[in-house]
Amino acid sequence: MLEPDVARTRILEALEGMAPLPPERVGLAEALGRALAEAVLAPRALPPFDSSEMDGYALRAADARAGGARLPVAFEVYAGSPQPPPLPPGACCRIFTGAPVPSGADAVEMQEEVSRQGAVARFRRAAEPGRFVRAAGSDVAQGAVALPAGTVVDAGAVGLAAALGRTELAVHRRPRVGLLATGDELVPVDRPPAPGQIPDSNSHALAAACREVGAVPVLLPFARDERASLRRALAAARGFDALVSTGGVSVGEKDLVKEALRAAGARLDFWRVAMKPGRPIAFGRWGRTAVFGLPGNPASALVTFELFVRPALRRMAGLAGSGRLEVAARLAEPASKPAGLTHFLRARATSRAGVLWVEPLRSQASGDLTSVTGFQALAVLPPDATRLRRGATVQAILLAPPRHL
Ligand code: AMP
Ligand code: MG
Repeated sequence: MLEPDVARTRILEALEGMAPLPPERVGLAEALGRALAEAVLAPRALPPFDSSEMDGYALRAADARAGGARLPVAFEVYAGSPQPPPLPPGACCRIFTGAPVPSGADAVEMQEEVSRQGAVARFRRAAEPGRFVRAAGSDVAQGAVALPAGTVVDAGAVGLAAALGRTELAVHRRPRVGLLATGDELVPVDRPPAPGQIPDSNSHALAAACREVGAVPVLLPFARDERASLRRALAAARGFDALVSTGGVSVGEKDLVKEALRAAGARLDFWRVAMKPGRPIAFGRWGRTAVFGLPGNPASALVTFELFVRPALRRMAGLAGSGRLEVAARLAEPASKPAGLTHFLRARATSRAGVLWVEPLRSQASGDLTSVTGFQALAVLPPDATRLRRGATVQAILLAPPRHL
């Protein structure tokens, strides 16, 4: 049995050569949250011309070395005006924020520091060369790298790309994930379950988790707990970047997923991890597809997806790490467990006076569906820990911001 950290490292290592996925060109809106597969170069400088940072007057600083200088106002320049004529010696011009600064002028004075008397402007204080002028190329020089490859496209990166005239960006393709629920007891959610049957909730929960990480989920037809059914289901599950099954991966008589994966040609790297929830979890490679056999219990499926599938999908998308904050936190309730396995407790996270507290949900039962929502953290109890006091320090994986008290 592998420790969870070791299992995660093995998964990421196995993705070498198949991650990140190839680039595709997408519109700016569709690029949000994804990793740039190209460096974005500036075809033009930013700002493209010397422009005014203030509503005021542009002048030669040398013409107002001391307070009290009076200069005739030669013309007016507005934002959107074409490049104005050169500024005549000994004159100033009216200028507004974003307007091009005329050649000859090397400073702008804000209007609050200027009094206007007809066609003449009086400057209260000495001008300073460069003041309130945004020099062409001072933000990004023409030809420079504005956004390096690998940048995660956020709202600001969209703005920068747009300012450079880009309507599209090359980003790594979103991973396509096949979701395969297995079990004789499952029915689709839109069909009333007969006695002994339950709706397939895992596929929907995992599809949501896929979307949350920027992957594209595809719900596949269920497989029954039979070799032939699993063989057919796997034959129809080719071509995904990742295949995630749930159920049938344990040691029961009808747990045939590992065997079916092997029979279909997958090379399983491991199938047990020393953790709770979710001890049985299989990982391997199936041609160009990463395959994950997750346990069927809803909480186990979601927690193992979080710890193992999510970082793998991010790696495929060119994104680093798990994207989660891991921090020290204090247990709000005592906890006890047998030695041996790492426990990941679903816990509410609260920040109080700058200290993060984690309060494990009352139910940690892997099968309880109410226990798979309403938590912000996974509290990590190490393998050797057996009794943890209230206030004990543990690692917490934050899935959402804590509440603030
Ligand atoms: P298994 O991992 O196949 O032993 O299943 C463990 C538990 O999870 C059983 O109670 C199953 O009924 C339940 N289960 C398996 N698959 C699903 C699913 N797709 N949706 C909801 N519950 C499931
Ligand atoms: Mg089963």
